[in-house]
Amino acid sequence: MLHKDTTRRTTAPTSLSRKFNLAQLIIVSIVVAVFTSAIIILSVMRQEEHLDNRIAELSSLAESNLATSIWQMDQKAVGDFVNALFKDDNIIFAQVLAGNDTVAIRVRRGHETHDMNYFRRNPNYRPLNLPLHRYGENIGTFNVVFALSPVRSEILFSAGIYMALAASLILVISQTSIIFTRRYIFDRLKRLEDSATAMADGDLEADIDTSARDEIGTLARSFSDMRNSIRQLVQDLRKANRKLENYSAALETRVKERTEELGAKNRSLNQALHEVRDAKYQAEAANVAKSRFLASMSHEIRTPMNAILGMADVLWETRLDDSQRKYVKVFRSAGENLLEIINDILDLSKIEAGHMHLADEDFEFADLVMRACDVMRPKAEQKGLTLRCSVSDKLPPIMRGDPIRLRQIIVNLLANAVKFTKEGEVSFHAELMQAPQDVSGNGTVNVQIEVRDTGIGISPEKLSTIFDAFTQADASTTREYGGTGLGLAICRQLTGMMQGRIWAESRPGKGSTFFVTVRLQRGRATSVLTAAAPRNGAQDMPPRKILLVEDSEYNAFVIETYLKDTPCALTQAVNGEQGVATFMDETFDLVLMDMQMPVMDGYEATRQIRRFEKDTGRSGTPIVALTAYALEGDADKSLKAGADHHLPKPVKREALLESINRFCSEDILPSVDIEVDPAMKEMAEQFVKDCRTRIRDAAQALTGDDFATVSSIGHKLAGEGGSFDFDEIGHIGVLLKQAGDDKARERAVELLEELKTYLNHIEIT
Ligand code: ADP
Repeated sequence: MLHKDTTRRTTAPTSLSRKFNLAQLIIVSIVVAVFTSAIIILSVMRQEEHLDNRIAELSSLAESNLATSIWQMDQKAVGDFVNALFKDDNIIFAQVLAGNDTVAIRVRRGHETHDMNYFRRNPNYRPLNLPLHRYGENIGTFNVVFALSPVRSEILFSAGIYMALAASLILVISQTSIIFTRRYIFDRLKRLEDSATAMADGDLEADIDTSARDEIGTLARSFSDMRNSIRQLVQDLRKANRKLENYSAALETRVKERTEELGAKNRSLNQALHEVRDAKYQAEAANVAKSRFLASMSHEIRTPMNAILGMADVLWETRLDDSQRKYVKVFRSAGENLLEIINDILDLSKIEAGHMHLADEDFEFADLVMRACDVMRPKAEQKGLTLRCSVSDKLPPIMRGDPIRLRQIIVNLLANAVKFTKEGEVSFHAELMQAPQDVSGNGTVNVQIEVRDTGIGISPEKLSTIFDAFTQADASTTREYGGTGLGLAICRQLTGMMQGRIWAESRPGKGSTFFVTVRLQRGRATSVLTAAAPRNGAQDMPPRKILLVEDSEYNAFVIETYLKDTPCALTQAVNGEQGVATFMDETFDLVLMDMQMPVMDGYEATRQIRRFEKDTGRSGTPIVALTAYALEGDADKSLKAGADHHLPKPVKREALLESINRFCSEDILPSVDIEVDPAMKEMAEQFVKDCRTRIRDAAQALTGDDFATVSSIGHKLAGEGGSFDFDEIGHIGVLLKQAGDDKARERAVELLEELKTYLNHIEIT
């Protein structure tokens, strides 16, 4: 780059002077050439004019002298005239004619053979043909020929001289100009350029000649001024640079200090981070330990609780005197309170550990509210309170969400309202928060719940803390009303999970209003909750064989006691392994399977039973899982293992009887006799067995949203039902296929239930 610049600096003026000299030479040459050409043209024109004058002179002379001589027939005079003419070297032919007779003729040597016609045609000659007259009469002709070559030679000669002169002139002018411009312009410019180059190379002391008074001198002076400014600038820059160096050194020292400082901080931060990470691991480990502890505590507490509450329930049903009834009542309510507390603690830790997942199922909103109110009504009436519950008819009747958790929120708020109100009323109202037409838009339904009471109220300063865990408005609350301060904390977490919020307004002594907003979805199914009201009485119970797989003798005793007055026969196995073996030996109508057992747990036992049924072609026996674990995934895990239903411990008598009624309901329906050809009987029986397996397969497919399998099972049932004359099965098969194609889960479930019920009360004869 530097090299290139240097080259440009040294060659540019040289080329400029060369260009300038060339331009000068061209201009001078053109000017001189123009002048020379003009002179030559002028000289040619003068020569021609001279020739014309001579011809004119000769013509007039010939006119006067020759005409007289020919008139007088003076041949000598004519001859003299012709001879006189030949003194002019340019005349090479002269001839005087009188009529057609030649009076005199003379031809210069070398041209004797040529005649007038030849001269006329040849451009190197100028012929003149002059008729001679006397007294108006043509008496003869005078022919004369001028040779042009001498004139032309003369012209050429003089042109040569002019051109030689012009060339010398050009040479002299251009040389003079070159010498002049070089000395006075280019050499000085070159010196200036050398100075500039030296400056550019860093020599600011280079010599600059500023003596001249002309433009180059002015340029040199400007240059010198510029050099001085640069010198000053360089000095300033050096100063600034020194300052900068000093500053940079100081900065470097500071940066070094800061880096060291930061390094130290970083080390301590890393240390802190390390400690935080350790603490986090410890916290996580503690959390895992807490979850494990809660799970096992739940199991350990629930198992004896199961026995205590079960026994209390059983005792309640026996004949008791008044004071015994009072004791048992205390028993039951204390047990239920304890269970509630355990459930609350478990719920909260589940939510905090992120293990709580909301269900997504259709439910009847108003029905859910009314059931929750029904639960609270006896307590409210006992306290002399009026309990009013209402649901806005703008709300869609079927909604989708988690009904159990929503019910938990509602029951909690109602329970608090009843608990903290001595007189007056408690009211519940649910309202739609958006315009009804918006509901159908994206399917989202925003519901606002309002629970109002005329109770003790809450002081403003406590109003914001009551939603924190283990917080109560007043220290005396626990003493007077009981409670743990967990209910509202759980409600707040649950409403948050339902994309809503919870808040309260209250005036001490006047009452409180709790508001809850939740976001639900518009449900798709028609009524599913009220479709089949569960029967939970023991009166109509079918005499069924039940296998109870349970390791705890207390729990087994409780179940046994629950079923004592029913026609059910109970066989007990103490672990999964024994349960599977017993199941293989006998046939049962229902299996009650505890999930946590030594030797083989209930999940594995359920899986083995299902495998056995599949291998032997035995129809599916309903399995109800009993589990004390209330942690996430218990129900799902049991259903995945192959159970049909899940009952959390402690098992209530009603819940157990309801399950038995639900899964063994065939005998209360009239049995249908299906008559088949004796040859076909075995095949028909096998077909019915296959149908039961298919029901289980379809139900399994539904849990994984596998509607294609449901539809294909429906298709098979439709075809095979018709071939065995089971029209009802064929009909259900057609509808099931349709439900599978439409991805209508509820409809499919209903049809499977219908088919199960039908299969349970047919008799093949
Ligand atoms: P618990 O009722 O088990 O103590 P909660 O979390 O349900 O726990 O309630 C926290 C506290 O909020 C209660 O202890 C009580 O002081 C106050 N509180 C809740 N609901 C009401 C109400 N309806 N009227 C007055 N105080 C209430």
